[in-house]
Amino acid sequence: MKICEIFHAIQGEGINIGKPSIFIRFFGCNLACTWCDTPYSWQKDAADFETMDLNTIITKVESFPCSHIIFTGGEPTLFQDNIKTITDTLGENYTFELETNGSMPIKHDLWQTINISPKLANSGNHPYL
Ligand code: SF4
Repeated sequence: MKICEIFHAIQGEGINIGKPSIFIRFFGCNLACTWCDTPYSWQKDAADFETMDLNTIITKVESFPCSHIIFTGGEPTLFQDNIKTITDTLGENYTFELETNGSMPIKHDLWQTINISPKLANSGNHPYL
């Protein structure tokens, strides 16, 4: 799995704002917003990720004193089967939140919280161009 970063921080948006969380940021996005604040999570020239196996991801997650995980990107819904493998392995002691641009169908019933951030005409994405 191509992972940009896994880190422990405070959620800064949505209903869980202020909640200590573990962020897992996947590399790859289906959009290309002109004002994107994480170009390293999808742009070829700015790419910054490591290829991690499941065991490496689980070990990193379990190193933090936290049981709430936020999957972000990039666009994490491109990697829903990988995410399900992670959540199935972590099990019921964790809660899961998704940050998405809302352009892809949700495949699995994994989520306690979904934050949808639609990209409008000012994003520069097709079909707005
Ligand atoms: S959808 Fe999000 S990650 Fe993808 S280009 Fe737009 S702002 Fe960046």
